[in-house]
Amino acid sequence: MNTIFSDAQRHLETALSYIDISDDIEKRLKYPKRTTLVSIPVRMDDGRLEVFQGYRVQFDNTRGPTKGGIRFHPKVDLDEVTSLSFWMTIKCAVAGLPFGGAKGGITVDPKTLSRLELERLSRGYIRALVDMIGPNTDIPAPDVNTNSTIMGWMAEEYFEIIREQRPGVITGKPVYLNGSLGREAATGQGALYTLMQWAKLQDITPKNTRIAVQGFGNAGYHFARLAKQVGFNIVALSDSKGGIFSNDGLDPERIMNHKKNRHELKAMLYCDSSVCEEADYETIDNEELLELDVDILVLAALENQISENNVSNVKAKVILEIANGPVNGKADEILYNNNTTVIPDVLANAGGVIVSYLEWVQNQTGLYWEEDEVNERLKNRLIKEAETIFRLANEKSVSLRTAAYIHGVSRIAGAIKEKGTREYFQG
Ligand code: NAD
Repeated sequence: MNTIFSDAQRHLETALSYIDISDDIEKRLKYPKRTTLVSIPVRMDDGRLEVFQGYRVQFDNTRGPTKGGIRFHPKVDLDEVTSLSFWMTIKCAVAGLPFGGAKGGITVDPKTLSRLELERLSRGYIRALVDMIGPNTDIPAPDVNTNSTIMGWMAEEYFEIIREQRPGVITGKPVYLNGSLGREAATGQGALYTLMQWAKLQDITPKNTRIAVQGFGNAGYHFARLAKQVGFNIVALSDSKGGIFSNDGLDPERIMNHKKNRHELKAMLYCDSSVCEEADYETIDNEELLELDVDILVLAALENQISENNVSNVKAKVILEIANGPVNGKADEILYNNNTTVIPDVLANAGGVIVSYLEWVQNQTGLYWEEDEVNERLKNRLIKEAETIFRLANEKSVSLRTAAYIHGVSRIAGAIKEKGTREYFQG
């Protein structure tokens, strides 16, 4: 059956075909190490009991404690969470972090919950999984529809159960609750650092470059805001309800302020308005945004947005993957053969987990840094890894994704090899 996970594994198989390593590595990266399914009972405001399905997949911990976000979304299922945990494993290795990969989620439309229901559900997730997580075992973080407030509730629930404050158990916490400065914008900021590094090699200047951004949440918004600051033209933005377009360029910060001010924030955390309600601009639907004649298409929503069904309509010659898995395997191959550059998720969105790592380091040591220092550390690390991947792609004449996988998998393979592979034990 063609699942998101089997699709994700094809990238691994391609990368392995370029590296001379033991079969043991492929076997180790084929299956998640531990999969946990939980049911989370929540007392709703009207007295009803609802039971929600929760997941945590710890894919691989060869290189350190597992790390990965928690998603609240109606489409969360085991295939999606497993795929996301696999990508986290590759991503942490690509970024050179001392972590393995994990992911979690709850099948729920959180926008239908009240503030109190959302808090009970978030705390319930931790109660169900408390034995699985910890600063030295598995460290969750935010993902789609979860944010610093939810991470704060989850961290507090954990402290209350174990009767000790161990802030390194969760990252992406509010700054006042031992979070890190710079974490909120880190994914968008990291994506911009990666893009700028690539643009430098291609002699691309921001002011002549038009960008469309799919997904105007945490990652997409901060990317768009920061990209505009350095001179890129953001001509289109979209969210789950639709999009807007302006040939003269959009101001993401102003649009986010409007979006927040115009409508109530449901459950305190979710804005129920949409960018497509911005009356000043031409509205477009999600499919149209993907097919716009722009220089760079930024995908910052969900997986599987570009597939064999719509890839032939994509006009952008560069795709920046801020979401995890937004281009499926078949579309990826077609884009590569058409000379479209895809800057892959495991590099482009690694800024989030890099600053999560920096938050964890600060929590574990008790020494906290200024925002400039956090951003400097993020930039240095990402640029170093991006340069290596761009060079590898050139040397081996492979896509940036295959180069990134070769780079990350080599690190995981190095760690597995140190413990002994078939070749070692056979003498
Ligand atoms: P978010 O919940 O803050 O935002 C998601 C956005 O996508 C929302 O604006 C939503 O309306 C929009 N969206 C959903 N479906 C859409 C569709 N079909 N078309 C257009 N827009 C749509 O989530 P986020 O944290 O910004 O995460 C977005 C992506 O980035 C996810 O794939 C996530 O895994 C990835 N990511 C996030 C982080 C992080 O630190 N937040 C780190 C790495 C990767």
